[in-house]
Amino acid sequence: MKLNDHSTIAAISTPAGRGAIAMIRISGDKSLAIGNKVFYPKNKNKPLSKAGGFTAHFGEFHDSGEIIDEVICTVFRGPHSYTGEDMIEITCHGSLYIQQRILEVLINRGCRLAEPGEFTLRAFLSGRIDLSQAEAVADLIASTSLAAHRIALQQMRGGFSGKIELLRQQMVDFASLIELELDFSEEDVEFADRSQFLILVKELKNEISSLIDSFRLGNVLKHGIPVAIVGKPNVGKSTLLNALLNEERAIVSEIPGTTRDSIEDVITLQGVAFRFIDTAGLRHATDQIEKIGIGRTQEKMEQAAIILYVFDLCEITASELTQTIASLREQFGEEAKRIILIGNKTDQLVEIPHDFNSLVEYETIFISAKRKENINLIIDSLLRAVQGYEFSGDTLVSNARHLEALQAALAHMNAIEEGMYSHLPTDLISVDIRLALHHIGTITGQVTSDELLGNVFGKFCIGK
Ligand code: GDP
Repeated sequence: MKLNDHSTIAAISTPAGRGAIAMIRISGDKSLAIGNKVFYPKNKNKPLSKAGGFTAHFGEFHDSGEIIDEVICTVFRGPHSYTGEDMIEITCHGSLYIQQRILEVLINRGCRLAEPGEFTLRAFLSGRIDLSQAEAVADLIASTSLAAHRIALQQMRGGFSGKIELLRQQMVDFASLIELELDFSEEDVEFADRSQFLILVKELKNEISSLIDSFRLGNVLKHGIPVAIVGKPNVGKSTLLNALLNEERAIVSEIPGTTRDSIEDVITLQGVAFRFIDTAGLRHATDQIEKIGIGRTQEKMEQAAIILYVFDLCEITASELTQTIASLREQFGEEAKRIILIGNKTDQLVEIPHDFNSLVEYETIFISAKRKENINLIIDSLLRAVQGYEFSGDTLVSNARHLEALQAALAHMNAIEEGMYSHLPTDLISVDIRLALHHIGTITGQVTSDELLGNVFGKFCIGK
């Protein structure tokens, strides 16, 4: 992570590969001077070095007399740019060769290749955005659903930072009251009213706790609503998953799962992302049934917000189904877990047995996964089940790093509260308040370390 490096950096910001056009970005003091050496504007009276901010210029990009491409240079003058520095965005034709040549020329002329996330790091270091806003930029780029997009956008525009800053300010005020008392500790006075302090601590704890609680929803909205497809071997779970994945309306993406080696399938249906938990295992383990042991299934069901319980209509008996429903009931009680029963292989039956129809304690959908019949009913049901998982615009924690910081801060707030009850000396209490403040400060980046910045920006792509 290059923290005190002011060299002028360059990178290709469009995806690797050939598109209609591509964009190469330069940022730093020397951007315009370097641009001037390689860009020959059509309007010869308007060299880049004299160009104002927010202007676009058409011309030729040259490498020592050789024309590489006809390009458009958009000029940004610091501090009114993404990074806060002088910047140029060179838009060229999308050939990989042209992109590489332009980048090479820029490097030969004094630019350094940008590291991942370095443009955004500079935006953070110049104070244009805080750390949680920088993270939101990455989330926005990665967003694949309406809710994930809204959360990222709100966070990028400072909604989340505002809330954290307010919380931090209240904690700073509290800390200064405590410190004030410390200053006078020689005189052995406790002039700040302890019961007032306690009320304040409780309020702060409540605020932190409600942010922590919001992670459950924030995480689901950001990464997709977790759905588990469970049932006995050979009932048709993987066939069903494939049918869902093949739905025309579905946008399918694979994201690395929470467990090692697992890939989770995310399907976006009408703007809502559903994450099928550990479905890679599901698809690949059909011939090694032991792999989906009871333990694994149990774990999947616990993580899920929605459970699709699949059974084979030709195999199951009404009493077995009753038992299954009872055991699902017992496990999840009246918890907000949606259970949808899926009776599969209708193609093998003349009609649905009547005794199943009497078991409609849970929503039951009859399908043929193999023939892709009634898959749309499952989709409708999934979409109905997500009501309550909507983004209302309230501040939500959706980032695991923020969650950890809040949890750490809460632990120190608890210690402060206990300390007050047990009349701990003020100087000991003030240690915890400083630590709580430290953790809150890491969210927006008031408190940073090289390691923290490395972790945050290292996950960005080059050119952002
Ligand atoms: P899993 O072990 O639950 O994942 O089950 P699979 O999806 O691997 O399916 C087991 C067997 O049932 C395979 O031979 C499938 O072709 C078959 N199968 C799945 N769905 C249907 C269906 O709707 N009708 C019929 N007749 N066979 C099905």
